[in-house]
Formats: sequence, C-alpha cells, structure tokens
Amino acid sequence: MGKPKLTRPWLVGLTGGIGSGKTTVCELFSRLGVPVIDTDAIARDLVARDKPVLHAIVEAFGPDVVDAEGHLRRDHLRSLVFKDPTLRLRLESILHPPIYDELDNELRLLKAPYCVACIPLLLETGATKRVDRILVVDAPEALQIERVKTRDGTDQEDIQLIMNAQVPREARLAVADDVIVNDADLGKLQEQVKTLHHSYLDFLEHEFASPPQVMDN
Ligand code: ATP
Repeated sequence: MGKPKLTRPWLVGLTGGIGSGKTTVCELFSRLGVPVIDTDAIARDLVARDKPVLHAIVEAFGPDVVDAEGHLRRDHLRSLVFKDPTLRLRLESILHPPIYDELDNELRLLKAPYCVACIPLLLETGATKRVDRILVVDAPEALQIERVKTRDGTDQEDIQLIMNAQVPREARLAVADDVIVNDADLGKLQEQVKTLHHSYLDFLEHEFASPPQVMDN
C-alpha cells in the first residue's frame, strides 16, 4: 500500500492560556509563509449584525444582547455566560458548530502542506479530534499575567478569573503533541517556530504521497 494523500492541508491546532503568546506565535508562522486561521476572527464575523448566528443568540438570550443599532453587546453577553454555566453551554452550542464549519471551509480552500489554526478553547470545546496535531504555547503563569497587564492594562484579579475559567496548564500540556515554551525573548520564540516548521514539513514529506508544496523558508 502506498502512502496516503493529503486532500486538504494538514491541520495544526494551536492553543494556550490567556497571554501565553498564541497571536505572536501565529504571526511567526505566518512570516514563514504558513497560512494561519484565527477562530476568534471567525467567531467575530459570525456574530456581525444581521448574521443568522446573531439572530440565534438574540432568540436564546433576549433582545438585550444587542444595542440599538443591532450590534452584539459582547460585554453584556460575556457577563451573562460567565455567571451561569448553563447559559455558557447554550452559547457554545450556538457558536461552536458554525465556527468549526467555517474553519473546515477555509481549510479546504488553502493550497499549502499545512495550516495553523489558532483555537484558544481547543480543549474546552472538546475539539481536539478535529485537528491533526496539537501545538501548545506555554508560559509561566506569572509571565502570562505580566504580559496581559502590559498589553491591555487589565488588573491582575480579572486576568486570574479568566485563567481560572480556562483548563489548567497541566491539562493542556498533557494533550500536546508539541510545546512551544514562551518564557524568554522573541528570538528564542522564533527559533522554536522555525524548528517546528521544518519538522512538520519533513514529517509531511515522509508520511504523505503528494509532496507538500514549497513554502518560503
Ligand atoms: P490572548 O489569550 O489574550 O489572546 P495570546 O496568547 O494571543 O493572548 P499574545 O497576544 O501573543 O498572547 O502575547 C501577549 C503579550 O505578550 C503581547 O503583548 C505580546 O506582544 C507579548 N509577548 C508574547 N511573547 C513575548 C515574548 N517572548 N517576549 C516579549 N513579549 C511577548
């Protein structure tokens, strides 16, 4: 039997806690010519004014979740679901299926050996089976807090609340196929991204019949 063929780019699901460096790592992959899909951006598009997903949210949560112009009141919705796990599940059941459908659509349109999808809640949404490889960006918690404080001016307590609602760091590391340790400068981060990039390309070259198309670098 010959090697299997890739019918769409191999999918690396990138995840990590708040402020771990997901966006920064995605940018570094992107600079190497790797296509990157941002599921947060997909989610934002899906809930734009007049979109069916927004209508479904209004139906489930009531008219107060949109403002006078029909835009989603994110903070209001977030505070509702943050307090009540049942509501959170309800929102997730509305949002997650179309997010993953759109991810699949975008993936099929890409011409590349592999693609990185940034999925902050990969574990929380039980979507680990949807990706071919799990890449975790990991940083010490104190550094996560420092970086988010500097970036957003958010206070420590609020960052801690978000961290407490995310899966623990150990759970993420337990399912990781690869880990990028983001505990130093950007140069070290870039080195790790380059090494992984080449190991993914090597792996694909060996495992699949259709040779990956060449990417820059
Ligand atoms: P969030 O979960 O909030 O979306 P994230 O995981 O995408 O965050 P980033 O936005 O990439 O994290 O990084 C958090 C902040 O830390 C950013 O301001 C980023 O520029 C900075 N940062 C990330 N990694 C490093 C690093 N190695 N050295 C210096 N600054 C860094």
